[in-house]
Amino acid sequence: MTSELGRLIARRIALAGPISLADFMAEALGHPRLGYYRRALPVGAAGDFTTAPEISQMFGELLGAWLAERWLAMGRPAPLRLVELGPGRGTLMADALRASRGVAGFHAAIDLHLVEINPRLRALQQVALDGITPRWHERFDDVPEGPTLLLANEFFDALPVRQFERTAGGWSERMVGLAADGEALRLALAPGVTPYAALLPEAPVGARAEISESGQRLAAAIGARLGRHGGWALIVDYGRDGGLGASLQAVRSHRGADILDRPGETDLSAHVDFAALARAAGCPTFGPVGQGDFLVRLGIVERAQALKARATPAQCGTIDAALARLIAPDQMGTLFRVLAVGDSRSAVPAGFFDPSPAGPSDTP
Ligand code: SAH
Repeated sequence: MTSELGRLIARRIALAGPISLADFMAEALGHPRLGYYRRALPVGAAGDFTTAPEISQMFGELLGAWLAERWLAMGRPAPLRLVELGPGRGTLMADALRASRGVAGFHAAIDLHLVEINPRLRALQQVALDGITPRWHERFDDVPEGPTLLLANEFFDALPVRQFERTAGGWSERMVGLAADGEALRLALAPGVTPYAALLPEAPVGARAEISESGQRLAAAIGARLGRHGGWALIVDYGRDGGLGASLQAVRSHRGADILDRPGETDLSAHVDFAALARAAGCPTFGPVGQGDFLVRLGIVERAQALKARATPAQCGTIDAALARLIAPDQMGTLFRVLAVGDSRSAVPAGFFDPSPAGPSDTP
């Protein structure tokens, strides 16, 4: 059984021919009325997946301290455009702001901008940010210019990717077309070699690869903004550092699903290629480092201790479990990674190693 959006996509393909997986993903997630991120409440126990800020307040608190420290390092600009891409339920920003209240002048300087396409989530964000009035935007490009601090947690993984497969003739693009019944959606290789082959490395027949043009365009826009006005972006997501592979996956109600199944009712996401984002940003970048290493360097273990000192034994158990989920290598600690993008005046920010050859390295 497909969805209303699945039938619309099938009709478009019947009229105009197969579409790229990136176009499919853009429709499935962003269709104005039926797209998954336009109408679903994706995050949380009742949604399709859980995210770091929903696991523990410690995540947002430490990121809030990081932001405040970066603002001081920038020379305390006012106004500061504080931007979050895809704030979900608003938990990360609420925790970050609460934790940075004590930094003199910081909150007075903040001009808060949230990039969010989901009206239901915008409403939840307003509730979470009790007393603060952000401005919402559909796109980062609509955020006013100026010195900027930007957060994006699990945002880039929702941006469309194209997928390719190496055949005997070269790289071909995987397209979404129709099955013989003329209704069901099917994946098939486009005939011939794709022009994107010029961007892909040599690989054995059968290898797959992904490219996110939207992700790279956005990273370039952020980098250009930071270059013009100064500032920092912190990008946290699950992903890889260059290389090949097909990672696009579908999740519904915390379980795996077929990519083409019930578009609009299913979350789609792909591993973020941090090397590609860093190149596209065209600015100094730091990392990516594992989320576990990053949070430990920011003091999450000490923060957990401080919370536990005032907690009941049951609460202590919850704090320990959340800590493990965020930092343990077999949980979110290494799969999730953190990339900082800075302006050209940047020195190494908290949480990252000095990238100079003499310094210790984050890559083994
Ligand atoms: N950062 C949050 C939510 C992650 S889910 C957290 O960590 O809990 C992805 C978020 O990005 C949601 O808020 C979703 O509605 C939003 N989103 C997804 N695609 C978007 C797009 N193209 N433009 C703006 N927001 C988008």
